[in-house]
Amino acid sequence: MRLVLVGPPGSGKGTQAERLVSEFGLTYIGTGVMLRDAIARGTETGKHIEPLLKQGLLAPDPMVNEVVAELFRSEGRPTCFVMDGYPRTYSQAIAFDALLKQQYLSLDAVVNLTIPDDEVVRRISGRRCCPSLQCGICFNVNFRPPQVSDKCDRCGSTLILRDDDKEETVRRRLGEFHKNTDSLLSHYRQKKLVRDVSATDPVDVIFENIIAALRGDPDGVAAKH
Ligand code: AMP
Repeated sequence: MRLVLVGPPGSGKGTQAERLVSEFGLTYIGTGVMLRDAIARGTETGKHIEPLLKQGLLAPDPMVNEVVAELFRSEGRPTCFVMDGYPRTYSQAIAFDALLKQQYLSLDAVVNLTIPDDEVVRRISGRRCCPSLQCGICFNVNFRPPQVSDKCDRCGSTLILRDDDKEETVRRRLGEFHKNTDSLLSHYRQKKLVRDVSATDPVDVIFENIIAALRGDPDGVAAKH
């Protein structure tokens, strides 16, 4: 199965992506993690995008497209995957379509997680993420607390409130999200790939609704794999 997850920050995209990975054995592809990795490694791309990420702005499309293209052109390229955070703009969607076509791959569905802005802001204030590059998992003190306070369940690192999760930054990120998402979704709606799922329910219910939405596909995307 090949999926794209769309949703504002705080919609629980990362959590649902993780569940889809375990349920269907997919490769997780998170551009947020990949870009933070480029920053940590001090690559040219990393140096260029660091201030943008800190301000909650999007990295330039050509740079993100290139990071994703490198992965898909590599020897162990993913064939069954869930995209978390890419494509995020219409122009990225067009570049991703072309890349997939070149690789003889096609998308099965675009899951659109919907949630009001104020709920996003409320949720994000409780978000704590693992700073480890190998890990990168995010918890939430309100909805998904780590087993030991402030420690990552997987690797034990001390969890942090990321700069890009601070309220002012979140409002800016939401602004960017709305500005970019309409045209992205219309593009995928035209291709009849979009499955809208409310992200205000508890995590387990959202996951069940995603599965149901995927099964509702006329070709039975979830049943097929
Ligand atoms: P995320 O972890 O997906 O919330 O991404 C964190 C930050 O990385 C975003 O606020 C953006 O600055 C940047 N980023 C991640 N994915 C993309 C993308 N597809 N296009 C542009 N910027 C991105």
